Amino acid sequence: MIDRTTKDRILAATRIEEVVGDFIALKRRGANWWGICPFHQDKRPSLAVSPSKGIFKCFACGESGNAVSFVMKHEHLTYAESLKYLAKKYHIEVVEKEETPEEIASRLKHESLLVVSEFAQKYFQDILWNDANGRAIGLSYFHERKFTDETIRKFGLGYTPTRPHTLTKDALAKGYKEEYLVDAGLCIRRDDGSVVDKFYDRVMFPIYSISGRVIAFGGRTLKSDKSIAKYVNTAGTEIYNKSESLYGIFQAKNAIIKADKCILVEGYADVISMHQQGIQNVVASSGTSLTTGQIRLIKRFTSNITIIYDGDAAGIKAAVRGTNLVLEEGLNVRIVVLPPEDDPDTFAQARSTTEILEYLAENERDFISFKSDLAEADMAADPLSRSKLINDIIGSIAVIPDAILRKEYAEMVAERFRQEVEDILSKITAIRDEQKRQAQLRERSLEAQVPPALSGQNAAEGDFGLEPVSDLPQEMPPAPEEANPYLLTNPVLAVQERELTDYLLRFGSYPLHFEKDMLYGAAPAEQINVETYIRNTLLDDDIVFANRLYRELYDEYFSFAGTLPEEMETRERQEAIAHHFANLENQTLLRESLNIVFDDQELTVRVYRDTLEPEEQRLGETVPKSVIMYKLRITEQQCAEITRAINSAQREGDPARQRELAKTLSLLNKVKLQLSKELRKGSA
Ligand SMILES: [Zn+2]
Repeated sequence: MIDRTTKDRILAATRIEEVVGDFIALKRRGANWWGICPFHQDKRPSLAVSPSKGIFKCFACGESGNAVSFVMKHEHLTYAESLKYLAKKYHIEVVEKEETPEEIASRLKHESLLVVSEFAQKYFQDILWNDANGRAIGLSYFHERKFTDETIRKFGLGYTPTRPHTLTKDALAKGYKEEYLVDAGLCIRRDDGSVVDKFYDRVMFPIYSISGRVIAFGGRTLKSDKSIAKYVNTAGTEIYNKSESLYGIFQAKNAIIKADKCILVEGYADVISMHQQGIQNVVASSGTSLTTGQIRLIKRFTSNITIIYDGDAAGIKAAVRGTNLVLEEGLNVRIVVLPPEDDPDTFAQARSTTEILEYLAENERDFISFKSDLAEADMAADPLSRSKLINDIIGSIAVIPDAILRKEYAEMVAERFRQEVEDILSKITAIRDEQKRQAQLRERSLEAQVPPALSGQNAAEGDFGLEPVSDLPQEMPPAPEEANPYLLTNPVLAVQERELTDYLLRFGSYPLHFEKDMLYGAAPAEQINVETYIRNTLLDDDIVFANRLYRELYDEYFSFAGTLPEEMETRERQEAIAHHFANLENQTLLRESLNIVFDDQELTVRVYRDTLEPEEQRLGETVPKSVIMYKLRITEQQCAEITRAINSAQREGDPARQRELAKTLSLLNKVKLQLSKELRKGSA
């Protein structure tokens, strides 16, 4: 909601070295400042900050961005919140953009729901402490559970009276709207239109957002009557998404960062008891089994999760399920099973802080030994279950995104079960290949957009697949569930598309100096710059970048370049472009453009090459070559595709189509030959 002018003023005032320097110590070395990266574990300074470019990059973990992204990442804020943070730092008054009536209505509603939730929390809390029944029933229950007054206040606990109209009546009398009470999940509208309290005759656990606003409640009955639900929880509302919230996250987040570990328990009371015992990096998945959204919430603060489970069958089943989810998100998971007689609540109460920490340290296990021990009893009885167990563990390893970690675990399994590590690794690869294939199938059906075909060649249209024409990057696409819209759908072409984007971002405005006979089809007399050359040669063949990431960067480039005044001097123009790309709002595009620009500034190989001959003087050779290489790759993919089509026409016994395709193929082969010839020009 910050308007364009204010945003520009904030960005102009921001000095990245000051912003980063507020969080980590920076030392100047050459043109850049260096510090210890806060985004990975490190002892040496790997994080470079470039004041002239206004960007940072960590050479160890690869994190990069501008001042806004640094604040976003470090402080876990949104883009707009980070801008406001910077505005405050640089004393710039933020003018909020005028909102549409719909935006105002939706923001007001959101705020109103938070306000009634806060009212309800205060209301329940007031009853707990000040009402005779509240004290006699609610407060004494919490005291029985050994919660101290300080803890009870810290978690905002409360009590609701026995009659189901109390909150409704009092809230309406205070002017809160019935509509909001219902939409915040505090009240229920009956079929006859009347409104009643959702929670009554229960002790109340408010659920806080990450920033400490009350967003929902869990209510526990104190009756032993089995016909009454033990817990009643807020269902999903506009301010509360159960699968993306964690009970206790607000109270725990700083402790999680400090300990670099998050302990996950099952219930509200478990969190509170552990917290009271001084173990504060504890959260619970509040009444649901663990979800991916909850794991990602934890991932904002740490990559280490320890899951504590009751030793009963249900607890163990949940542990197995939760483990794979955590592994899939690339986090480290450890599991602690409590003594059979305990749940985390009773466990914490019966022990001192030191005893708890000791127990956790001694009983924390990785998922392999957890699963293995679990199956040991079965295995003795049934040898078949042994291979089932190994396959199950291998399945868990296969979901881990990090290759090095997968290998480490594979070695552990090999040792434990006396298997060949190669066998295990190849099983893992097979599982991942299958997952990859599934993911691609999904991706293809999602991405209806067809990669470019060379015009006029009547080439086969459609998806060219991932034929290994040249070296495929070893990077795996992220876990299939993570629908990454920027997944490189065509990794082979991506290499070339990145390179062309690279030339645009660094040299788009520069003139091309053609060497004598290295014209590569360009008109010799023309004074032409890099961007025009690239655009024209791609347009000539109707080529559109196949990968969305580079397609969007390309479009962004030309739509911004189009706004620059014509008479601008080359270097100045290129700087304006660099500045624009260093401040993109889309974080994926921003990161990729910074990586492109920064790589070339910092990689020694390039620097070395540059000392031989400045790169901008060789653009007349390098840029056309890059375009030709790109076209060659496209043609190769088309050839591969047509060859496949010919084979299938043959299988189906369709000679007419076979001939037709063969004609196209020979045409394409000629194009391929021509392109290869051009590429070789001048490289001798
Ligand atoms: Zn780093």
